[in-house]
Amino acid sequence: MNASSHTALLPTLNSSELKRFGRHLILPEFGLAAQQRLKAGSVLLIGLGGLGSPSSLYLAAAGVGRIGIVDADVVEETNLQRQIVHGHAMLGHMKTESAAARMLDINPDLQIERHDVRFTIDNAIDLISQYDVIVDGTDNFPTRYLVNDTCVKLGKPNVYGGVLRFDGQLSVFDARHGPCYRCLFPEPPPMEFAPNCAEAGVLGVLPGVIGSLQATEVIKLLTGVGTPMIGRMLVYDGLDLSFTTIEVAKATDCPICSLASENIKLQETVMACGAPVGRSISASDLQSRLAAGDDLVVVDVRNPGEWLAGTISGAIGLPKPQIEQALIQAGAPPLPKDRDLVLVCQSGMRSSAIIKSLVAAGYDAGRLYNLELGMAAWPGEVHPLGDKHWLLHKAGH
Ligand SMILES: [Zn+2]
Repeated sequence: MNASSHTALLPTLNSSELKRFGRHLILPEFGLAAQQRLKAGSVLLIGLGGLGSPSSLYLAAAGVGRIGIVDADVVEETNLQRQIVHGHAMLGHMKTESAAARMLDINPDLQIERHDVRFTIDNAIDLISQYDVIVDGTDNFPTRYLVNDTCVKLGKPNVYGGVLRFDGQLSVFDARHGPCYRCLFPEPPPMEFAPNCAEAGVLGVLPGVIGSLQATEVIKLLTGVGTPMIGRMLVYDGLDLSFTTIEVAKATDCPICSLASENIKLQETVMACGAPVGRSISASDLQSRLAAGDDLVVVDVRNPGEWLAGTISGAIGLPKPQIEQALIQAGAPPLPKDRDLVLVCQSGMRSSAIIKSLVAAGYDAGRLYNLELGMAAWPGEVHPLGDKHWLLHKAGH
């Protein structure tokens, strides 16, 4: 796409379009040529949710010639708080059907292409290759990474928007001229920060702000008017009502855009919500299992000083540094591999780290339990660890 060339080949506007887009045509920076470029342009909207709603409406209204819409979901009542392209009459209908009807009502000359599918590794190349500009309106990290990687591979600009609670982000990732999404975020965030895992809320008007800005960037990219947000990230704080722009640079070691196109392999991004490594057990479940006399070993990995306040009855004390030292020196700590182990610390952080190390050392992840929130949330009685050492308890049960 080169906005300044091929002017002679640009489509003409019919009399209805000349009337409809009159407010664009009288903008000195815009004019007839920019409007013709919009008509010649094509956009793929991935996701018709909160972000896709305003961008679909404004891009249809602005006179983009061809718009592809991708979504496999149906309209639900909980969507209507923010997904303003859909209405009550369309509850239960495909989002693509709902959005297409609204967009054609706004602009009957629009060429609209419905893709009633999930955006997946199998159709990513085919879908993105058909359009000039891609709008990322997804609500989950695996799809967002797939959109990014495919855009980098095919050399397409990716208009990115993200919203969470009261905050929004916007950028244009075009790896030919600046960073890609993975330059900034090489891997997905920890699960507790991933909105699709935490089901975090969002102020309904927030995606309206960010989605409208995405539409603005699309129009700039298609027409060549203005300066697109390449190499810059807009951060919007809805509570303060502040917009901050930060410079974002290409990462020379980016796992995707540092590669030649033919070496970029699309991959699934796996986010295991709620199950990092090993298993977790709540305090009440652990109490039940102990009361039932289940065969399990409770290992308190806190430091000896922390044991003074007491620990779970029957627990053996083996501080985290001691386990790590044993892993390095002997390849394994003095803990059985053939029994269920419940790792305990004060908050659940250190024990979680130890579980990762034990799995790496060959322990069965299915037999390793992390006490959720650690001793801080333990509601049961505590007992002195005293001089009990794991060796004394090995023969227990
Ligand atoms: Zn990159």
